[in-house]
Amino acid sequence: MQAELTRDLGNYFWSFAFAGPVAAVLAIAAALAVKSLPALFFSGLALAGFAFVIFACHAVRTPDPEVDLEEVEARYLLGTIIVAVGLGGIVASVLGQNSPFFAQALAVMVALATLGAANGAGPGRPLIALVQFPAISLPIGIALIRFWPAPWGVGAGAGVLVFGLLCVSMARSGYAAHTELLLAREAQAAERQRLDTAVQTLSQAITILDAATRVVAMNSSAMALLGVKPLDPANPPTFAELLADAPNLQTAATNRAEFLGHATMLVNLRQPFNAALHLNDNRVVDLECQPVPGGGWVTVMRDSTGEHNAIAELNREIRRCPVTGLPNRRAFMEELDQRLLKGSNFALMIVDLDGFKQVNDRYGHAMGDRVITRVGFRLRTADPGLFASRMGGDEFAILAESDDVEGALALARVLIDAVDQPARFGDAEIQVGAAVGVAMSPDNGQIGEDLLRAADLALLSAKGHPGSHICLFTPDLKLLSARNAGVESRVRSALRAGNIDVAYQPLVDLETGTVVALEALARWLPDGGEPVAPAEMVRIAEARGLIGTLRRLVLEQAAAVVAGLPGPMNLWINASVHDLRLPGMVDEVLAELQVVGLPPHRLALEVTETALMTDEDACRSNIERLIKLGVGVAMDDFGAGFSSLDRLRRLPINALKISGSLLSGAPGQAMAADIFRVAASLGHSMDLMLVAEGVESREELELARAAGIHRVQGFALSPPVPASQIPEAIASAEAAANTGLQLRAAS
Ligand code: C2E
Ligand code: CA
Ligand code: CA
Repeated sequence: MQAELTRDLGNYFWSFAFAGPVAAVLAIAAALAVKSLPALFFSGLALAGFAFVIFACHAVRTPDPEVDLEEVEARYLLGTIIVAVGLGGIVASVLGQNSPFFAQALAVMVALATLGAANGAGPGRPLIALVQFPAISLPIGIALIRFWPAPWGVGAGAGVLVFGLLCVSMARSGYAAHTELLLAREAQAAERQRLDTAVQTLSQAITILDAATRVVAMNSSAMALLGVKPLDPANPPTFAELLADAPNLQTAATNRAEFLGHATMLVNLRQPFNAALHLNDNRVVDLECQPVPGGGWVTVMRDSTGEHNAIAELNREIRRCPVTGLPNRRAFMEELDQRLLKGSNFALMIVDLDGFKQVNDRYGHAMGDRVITRVGFRLRTADPGLFASRMGGDEFAILAESDDVEGALALARVLIDAVDQPARFGDAEIQVGAAVGVAMSPDNGQIGEDLLRAADLALLSAKGHPGSHICLFTPDLKLLSARNAGVESRVRSALRAGNIDVAYQPLVDLETGTVVALEALARWLPDGGEPVAPAEMVRIAEARGLIGTLRRLVLEQAAAVVAGLPGPMNLWINASVHDLRLPGMVDEVLAELQVVGLPPHRLALEVTETALMTDEDACRSNIERLIKLGVGVAMDDFGAGFSSLDRLRRLPINALKISGSLLSGAPGQAMAADIFRVAASLGHSMDLMLVAEGVESREELELARAAGIHRVQGFALSPPVPASQIPEAIASAEAAANTGLQLRAAS
């Protein structure tokens, strides 16, 4: 602050340079005129003082940074004080010497003028204000009062004293105002300094633009980010020029021109805007431009590479199966759409594993995941050119460049062979098979969904034909699936409407030769269309959650029919595991029996071997309850599937129906007959009631009898018949069992 005050002295140089010598010469003239030696001395003193003042003022006129401002200030102060003392002395000695009035008046005027002038440079220099009064005003005032005749002397003297005091007070208030101004200016400078420091030390890169988007300030982070040097403050570039020349910005950035055009437009509209800039080292910078209310802009640049990478990683993550690391369904659909868009020829294959469910059931899901991962790896590496993804569950989808069907089918074979290899996981050796549905682009579909559906249908057909693991999509598959869809809806409506009939097939006790039970078999009541096989009906009912409805319809009719027969006839009905696992199933069955008055011990449920084996745990509690209530539970089709004997032993059942497939042709084949006998002795050793089903000939009947089978059932005795023909069926079955066989044609 003081430095500025001192520099200000330069402005007074010319006035001092003129006024000083003039005042000094006048003072010397006055001293000579009154011939006063003291006056002459004080004139010399004043002249010397002026010299000091003038040289001090001159020293700060050139903007020489070397100038010692403190010394200049001291010289100026000293000069001013000397001048004041000199002038005071002159006037006092002139007045005291009875000199001519003209000289006295001149001296007083010069002194007072100088006093006034010194006052001008006084602000900021309280010492001058203090010295002025005792050095100039006081001697003149006292001299006037003493030497001039009253009342003039007293008046003039008092006037001079008052003027002197006024000057002091003016100088002081001027000083205060000046100080305030300087303090304010200093505070402003400090504020700017703080702001500057803040901007400089911010880790965010900041540039400040004026209204014409010239870069007026830029911090070191911004310079480092863009790779630019400090700006020339005299000739700042515009922001667009700065970016255009920034070495770190990607020269190949295609969007640079577009961005700048866009930015110019927004600048003209004074709208804030954001942009992403790409640097040469692949970093990404987010740029934010914000207009400032008074005009101009603040731009903030931030290295957002981390965020961009995280977003990219997230994008990759949601396209990847977390278990296998393969692309997932979403990624697959994107890839499929892209290839379709390109119009390339390729094959889409859906690979579905066989026996994966059993792996999960037997070893748990963690092992299932390991198996799926291994399979995924094998598929991906089966052929270098293919795109493999996991669609979920045990299903994979593969895309392979291919324009001929033979090549695609050969590749499908390679995939199956790659999957169908034993794999070791600790102690377990696991092998799963696979089926593949193949669809060709563009022949089998122009859009992704269609192509996927075509491959799905092909897969369905591959799985529907045991032994053939590969199927190529053909248009008739579509017709077939349309027909299936039709059948499905007809079965559904038949079940809902209760349009299901029941056929009855007798079971003959070989010991007594009498029919002791009837098996109820569901029959599709034709509604004009093609009849549907019971097994297919059951499959659809299971898939659509209508299996309970089917059981209810059959049990309702059959229980009423059997309860209405003379004599204690038993009823055997088929139950699905989908039904047996439902919690309320047993109570429903009991309620239905009660309606017709059939005691529980006259009912038996048949459950197929494969279903019971895979869903044993889910059904166990219902089965145990049924047995406790006296309801029989039989394993149906024993020998057609592949039971674990250990599990069979632990199942809470009381009857075994040996599959007709074991008996069929067995009498003529020693090994087949042996197998049948083994199955029978297995049942004996478990103390189960044994039923041989599918008995079609006298030889088969005899084989069953010899193997110790308790009951027989089959076309040789009676085919399933409608309720109205039950008496005839019973008679025919008993006759056949007792007196040589009377083969009836299957109806
Ligand atoms: P299943 O329980 O093994 O029923 C025996 C099947 O063999 C019946 O076929 C029957 O007509 C047939 N059959 C009877 N004697 C002979 C024979 O000597 N030789 C041959 N080759 N076949 C014979 P159907 O009625 O077509 O039933 C097929 C399957 O559908 C049944 O097999 C059973 O699993 C299922 N099913 C039938 N009705 C129902 C039902 O009401 N509920 C449930 N859950 N399943 C049912
Ligand atoms: Ca059955
Ligand atoms: Ca059966």
